[in-house]
Amino acid sequence: MGRVVLVICDGHRADFVRHDTCPRITDFAHRSRSFANHRAIFPSATRASAASIATGCWPANHGLHGNMMGLPDADGFRVHDVGDPAFVGKMRAAFGRTLRVPTLAERLAPYGGAVIASNVSPGAAYFHDPDHFGHVIHRAGSFGPGGRRLDKDEAPVVTHDYAGDEALTDWFCKIVLRERQPRLAVLWLSNPDAAMHADHLGSGTHLDGIACADRSFGQVEDTVAQLRAEGEEILLMVGSDHGQETVAERVAVAARLVDAGLKEAPESTDLVVAPQGGAGLIYLAPHMSARKGEVASFLRAQPWIGQVFVGDEMGHLGQRPDNGLSIAFSMARTDERNSYGVPGHITICVSDEKPGKPEGFGSHGGLGSFERHPFLMINGGGFASETVEHGETRLIDIAPTILRYLDLPRTGVDGLALPQN
Ligand SMILES: [Zn+2]
Repeated sequence: MGRVVLVICDGHRADFVRHDTCPRITDFAHRSRSFANHRAIFPSATRASAASIATGCWPANHGLHGNMMGLPDADGFRVHDVGDPAFVGKMRAAFGRTLRVPTLAERLAPYGGAVIASNVSPGAAYFHDPDHFGHVIHRAGSFGPGGRRLDKDEAPVVTHDYAGDEALTDWFCKIVLRERQPRLAVLWLSNPDAAMHADHLGSGTHLDGIACADRSFGQVEDTVAQLRAEGEEILLMVGSDHGQETVAERVAVAARLVDAGLKEAPESTDLVVAPQGGAGLIYLAPHMSARKGEVASFLRAQPWIGQVFVGDEMGHLGQRPDNGLSIAFSMARTDERNSYGVPGHITICVSDEKPGKPEGFGSHGGLGSFERHPFLMINGGGFASETVEHGETRLIDIAPTILRYLDLPRTGVDGLALPQN
C-alpha cells in the first residue's frame, strides 16, 4: 500500500495558475494529470469544502452546511461561525453528532492513519476529523487520536500568515512526510486566500500570496521526489478549494428581510440568514415554513440577488432541506474586470451594515465562474503525466480517488474516483 500527499492552496483560482505567478505548480502540470474543469461546492467557502474533501460527500450528506450555519435555538435558529474552535462541540451538542458520514481520517485509521496540517480557520481544520481518528495540527490547538491534545513538542504553533505557511510546510516535510509517514498527509495553506482577502485581486499582495503557496508546494514536491527515490510509492495531489472574485457591494440580507416584514427583528430566531460571502443560507423556524415562498419571492425581486433555490431545489447545489435550512441563494455578480484586469465582481451577503473591509478586495462563497473554479493536479498512482481532463470534476471526487489508490472500499461517498488517462 502506497501513501498519499495532498496540498491545498486555499483560494487559488484556476486562471491564476500560470507560469509567471506559480512556476513550481505549473511545471508540476507537465508531470501530472490536470483537471481543467474542477469545481467548488456550494457555498464556495473553505469550511464545508474541507468536510467535502475529507468525506467525498456533498454538504447535503455530510451535514456541515457552510462557513456559517444555523443551529436550533429556543423555538427557532441562531447563526454560528463554523470557523470558531468551539463550533464542533456546539454541533455535537445540538445533534448528538458532528458529520453524518466517515472522514478519510476515520477510514484510514486502521491503515496507517492521517495527519492534517492546516493553517486556515480552526473550524476548517477540525472538520477534516471532528471526532479525532487521526492527527489535526492547527495553531488554535492540535489533536491526536481519541482527542488527546498535542503539546508543542508534537505539533508546531505557527502564525496565520506567509511565515506561518512556510513554518508549517517545513515541519510537514521534515516530521510528517519523512518521520511519521502516515497513510494520508494533508497540508492546507492559508495562501493565497489570506492575501486575496486583504487586497485587490491581481495586486502585488495577491501575487505574493501565490508565490508563498508555490514555494511551499515546491518544498513538498522535492521531499516527495526524495522519498520516491528511496523506493516509496506516493500519490501526490495539489489543488485549491475555491477561487475569489472582487467585492462590488455588501448587503446585510437579514436586515433587508426585517425591513420587508419577513423577519421579526435583527436578533429574532424565526428566520435567520447564515452569510456565506457570495451566497447565503436561510433557516426557518417551523411556524415560518409556510412563508418560504414569500421569502423567496422577495429575494428574487432584489437587484443584489443572483439565484434562489427553495426546498428540494437546493439539490442542484449539493444541499437539501435539513434542520431548518429552507432556502439557499447566491448574490448578484458580473464578469466586469477590476483595475488590475481581473474579471469577476460579486455582491456579498454580510451579517450587519457595520463598516468592514473595503469594497474592491477579494471574497467568495457564491456561484461566480471564478469563485467556483479551483484547480487540481495529480501525479503518480497510475495518473498519466502531461494530460488534461476536460470533463467536470468536483471536490467530492478527491476522497474516492484516494480510496481507490489505497485499494480501500468507497462505500458511502457521493464522488467518483477520477479518470487516470
Ligand atoms: Zn476565504
